[in-house]
Order: sequence, then structure tokens, then C-alpha cells
Amino acid sequence: MKSLGSIRRDFAPWKDPSAKPYIAFENVTKVFGDFTAVDDLSLTIFEKEFFALLGGSGSGKSTLLRMLAGFDEPTKGRILLDGQDLAGIPPYRRPLNMMFQSYALFPHMTVEANIAFGLKQEGMPKADIAARVAEMLKLVKLEQFAKRKPHQLSGGQRQRVALARSVAKRPKVLLLDEPLGALDKKLREETQFELMDLQQSLGLTFVIVTHDQEEAMTMADRIAILDKGQVMQVATPAEIYEAPASRFVASFVGNVNMFEGTVAAREANKARIAGASGAEIFVENAGDAAAGNAVAFAVRPEKIKVSSKRPEGSANAMEGEVFDLAYLGDMTVYHVRLPDGQVVKASALNSSRLTDDPLTWNDRAWISFQPDAGVVLTR
Ligand code: ADP
Ligand code: MG
Repeated sequence: MKSLGSIRRDFAPWKDPSAKPYIAFENVTKVFGDFTAVDDLSLTIFEKEFFALLGGSGSGKSTLLRMLAGFDEPTKGRILLDGQDLAGIPPYRRPLNMMFQSYALFPHMTVEANIAFGLKQEGMPKADIAARVAEMLKLVKLEQFAKRKPHQLSGGQRQRVALARSVAKRPKVLLLDEPLGALDKKLREETQFELMDLQQSLGLTFVIVTHDQEEAMTMADRIAILDKGQVMQVATPAEIYEAPASRFVASFVGNVNMFEGTVAAREANKARIAGASGAEIFVENAGDAAAGNAVAFAVRPEKIKVSSKRPEGSANAMEGEVFDLAYLGDMTVYHVRLPDGQVVKASALNSSRLTDDPLTWNDRAWISFQPDAGVVLTR
């Protein structure tokens, strides 16, 4: 199998058996009353990693972060930082800082004073504070705004002040709970790249909580997908997208088509899947699926081709009808209904201005894909 890389080519400590995790959750459970918010969860994060906790609302993301920060203690299990058990260590004695969604800037203080606040409390000498604040202002490109109050700043600038303040004390780990939630889409995208730059230039470990899959995909070295307080998969963005471990993960991240069926034959790595509708699907890399298993073949829309005629030499082709289509400028998304009622999504890049195979509503159409276009899922 060809490899699915990580975004930073030379950074993959999780693949190195001799690398020691920096943060480790070991069988951590958190119970509120009779509700289990985090359920026997284990997870490791490496130094200088940009790690994202991704999950729907209520999946336990913030609870995990709060326990790491020390605002909550696990009901069971341990959390280790650089080999040290964090149990009983108060938040201010942990070498980490947390940035909250509502940045909680002091409204009556200038940008400068906001950034200096934690340093003063720590008793840092005045000259050192001034130097550090200047360095932080430069880092987040807010030098001209030092004397302003938060209400005289834009949302994006406030976000950067909060960021500067949270790294001013040079924590080893920065925890960010939905840090970009208050920003509009365009600003959010710009800020994602700024965050990545900042993380790299300071050499910090970032653990970020988000419910936004694109955000996690853009920024993180690895993503943990959470559901009901459990880890569904931990992997790089490319692995999560191209090699999801389960139907849940495949559906949670991006668009996907699931062809449900039974493994009719398995030979070496290849398999033939008998689909619910009687159609057969030939796949490579059948993974751990054995003959007789109920499986799904998960294929992303961009790996499915749509054409008006049966494509020649395609292992997997099915005829249906164009049920819906959306022209999005850069691409067109076709919804093709198969005889059994399943609607298959296929996206085609509009790389030339005109197409010689135009398809529209109610046209007969063929969808086709290669045996290695997707993954076989047993879970
Ligand atoms: P997320 O950040 O993924 O949206 P949280 O970690 O905030 O989820 O919460 C997970 C679950 O735990 C939710 O159902 C939430 O209602 C519950 N929960 C969180 N904190 C408390 C608390 N202090 N008391 C009771 N229930 C809580
Ligand atoms: Mg939350």
C-alpha cells in the first residue's frame, strides 16, 4: 500500500517505537453523577505535536482538556505529563496553559496589560515583562495595538491577544478549546495558518478541541475522533480521510458513500463483495474482512466517476439515474440513484470550462470506481 503521509514530512514520533509520549491518558474515566463523560480512554500525545480532539457536541472533548489542565480530576485512570502523574497537581503548577473559547480578556486593561498580567502575577522583573510583552506583540503582529483596549479591536485581533497572553509565560503545552469558534469563516481559515506558524515557531505542544472537521484536518498532525467519551480512531488527517477504521469515522469526516454487502469471496488481499442490491464490488485491500462478513465499502465522492456510457475496463460500474446535481464552480456534485434506491454522491472537478459529456437531471448515468478507490469496513 502506498503511504499516507503526515503534513509535516519529518515529524512522526508516533511511528517511532523508541519515542516517549509527552502526554498520556491511561484508562481515564470521568463520571458526572450517573453519566459517563469519558469512558476508559487511553491516548498518547508527543512533544511538539499539534493534536486535535475532534467530536460532536457532548463527546467529552472539553472534559478531557479540563482534566489535563487540572480543573477536573479523573474518576478513574491516570494522566501523565513527561512521565509524571498529574494527580493532585493544581492547574497553576502544571507546565501548560489553557485558552478558552470566550477569550476572557480583561476589558478595562490595554492589550499590553492583558498580555503582561500573568507575568506580573508570577513576579517577573519589570524589564523582563516589557521585553516579553514586546516579543509577544511582535509574534501575533499587534505591535501598533499595544495601547488599545479589547473593545477597540476586531474579533480576530482579540483572538490574537488571547493567544499572546496564553503563551506569554512560555508554557510547554497550550490547550485550546474551540479557539476559533467566535470568528467568521474567512478569518477562521486565516487564523488556522497563524496558529500553525505560532506552534512551530515556539516549538510548543498544542492540544486543540474542535467540532469542526476541516479545522482539525487543516491544522493537526494527528486527530483523535471521539464519540461518547471513547476514542474511535487516532491517526493523521490523511489516514482518517483515506483509511477510516469504522463506518462511524468514515461518515464523521467528509462525505462518503457506503456500499453495504457481504464478502462473497476473499483471495489474498482481494475480495468480492455481494452488494445488497445484487451488484458485485471488487476490492483490493480487503483488510481483516473474511468471507461471510457483513461489510461496507466506503468510497469518497471524488473517487467515483460519472459518465453517460458504461466506462470500459472499470472493475466496478453501476447504472442509475441523475437524481440531483449541484454546480459549485470548481466542481460539480452528482447524486445518482441506483436501482435499489441508494443515492451515490460523485464529485467531478471542473478543470476545463466545458465538458463533452454533459449530464443533467433524470439522465441515465454510470458510476464507476477502481478496486482501490475505498476501504472495506467491518465495524
Ligand atoms: P464536548 O466538549 O465534547 O462538547 P463535554 O466534555 O463538555 O463535551 O461534555 C461531555 C458530557 O459531559 C456532556 O454530556 C456534558 O453535559 C457532561 N458534563 C460535562 N461537564 C459536566 C459537569 N460538570 N456536570 C455534569 N455533566 C457534565
Ligand atoms: Mg466542549
